[in-house]
Amino acid sequence: MVNPDVASPGLSADTTVASVPGPLAGTRAPEPVADLTGMRRNDLAAALSRAGVPKSELDLRGTQIRTWIYRKGATSLNCAIGLPKALRARLGESCTIGRPEIARRQLSVDGTRKYLLRLGDGSLVETVYIPEPDRGTGTLCLSSQVGCTLTCRFCHTGTQRLVRNLTAAEIVGQLLVARDDLGDWNTLPGTGRRITNVVLMGMGEPLFNTDAVIRAMQVVRDHEGIAISRRKITLSTSGVVPEIARVGTEIGCMLAISLHATTDALRDRLIPINRKYPLAELLQACRDYPRLSNAERIIFEYVMLKGVNDSDDDARRLIALIDGIPAKVNLIPFNPWPGAEFECSDPDRLRRFGDIINRAGYSSPVRTPRGADILAACGQLRSDSLRRGRRTLRESPDSPMSGSLSRSEIHGRRDTSAVPTLNRS
Ligand code: SAH
Ligand code: SF4
Repeated sequence: MVNPDVASPGLSADTTVASVPGPLAGTRAPEPVADLTGMRRNDLAAALSRAGVPKSELDLRGTQIRTWIYRKGATSLNCAIGLPKALRARLGESCTIGRPEIARRQLSVDGTRKYLLRLGDGSLVETVYIPEPDRGTGTLCLSSQVGCTLTCRFCHTGTQRLVRNLTAAEIVGQLLVARDDLGDWNTLPGTGRRITNVVLMGMGEPLFNTDAVIRAMQVVRDHEGIAISRRKITLSTSGVVPEIARVGTEIGCMLAISLHATTDALRDRLIPINRKYPLAELLQACRDYPRLSNAERIIFEYVMLKGVNDSDDDARRLIALIDGIPAKVNLIPFNPWPGAEFECSDPDRLRRFGDIINRAGYSSPVRTPRGADILAACGQLRSDSLRRGRRTLRESPDSPMSGSLSRSEIHGRRDTSAVPTLNRS
């Protein structure tokens, strides 16, 4: 599926769209039976209270349920031994423990796993696990929406028309299903855990679904549950300025900004939300970010587009823009997709650009092809699956599919030069 807004080659001014797409109105995710998975402590206490648990037992029962869901991986209340049978039955009438289903799974030779997950209503989203070589740890890249209402010109997810917000349960559920697949239960941080970091860099704009994302990350952080510390969570936004401060105060996680351009003229064309929240406002929000310090720097993501944003002047403007902000710059090789109008900058240009940033005192790792490709290509697996579904209705992609695929098969692009490791936090 190719978005007409990005189908025409080049960046001609006549392709600018009249209005900037905004958050979703009237397309809220279904909230049918309450899902225990996305509940924070107070939400869970309220659900338990409704199920008749006396106030004096709320803490105990809440801890038991959190332990079963987030430490032991329970998918049903029936296995929650220690919880009174009557309570299990009562709670089971109004609550579930949700899990998306793995519709497809792609396994890379380097251990990277890309999941296409089917949600309760049949919607598909992507989640990617990126292991750190030789460390046994790894980063899980979560989606926050099905598709994305924004139409950034270089992003495949932005070409997908069917969009809805994920619920907090669906966001947390991506992590639980990946832990099922990785056998990552009964582990605590520092004790052989495989998912140690979380990045909100999958499908969707997290700050167009801020409430659910905050709820989900509060669940992920809870030390009685999944217990991933706030500094090991990174949220990436295209620049929804009014919501940025909440990320600092309500999640306290690391912030990544999809900058990608150093002038409003170019950013307006690449990232439509810039027309609403231009660079000056975005960078002010970064300067005001509640958690900002040298220990907790903002990550500026910069996708390298050949001949578009990769000149020495761009590098110098970038340095001037972020002047005074404790920051690092992540250079992302552009990941082409069918119908994309851009190419990735040449390796020499990429290196030269990185050198200029480095000399100004900023760390500027180039994302590894594996991590970068999969993150950047978010949306491609879903589109491919929707196309297959249309082509062969009788094909059965329902059962998890795994196989040893080469990197380029997974990412749909060539491998580029060897570069430093994925640098998340
Ligand atoms: N919507 C959020 C988070 C998801 S996108 C955001 O835009 O920040 C995660 C990152 O991948 C963003 O920096 C995005 O700009 C980048 N990206 C998207 N498409 C890409 C592509 N084809 N190649 C490289 N990076 C891409
Ligand atoms: Fe949406 Fe981010 Fe892709 Fe832009 S880059 S279309 S905000 S997912």
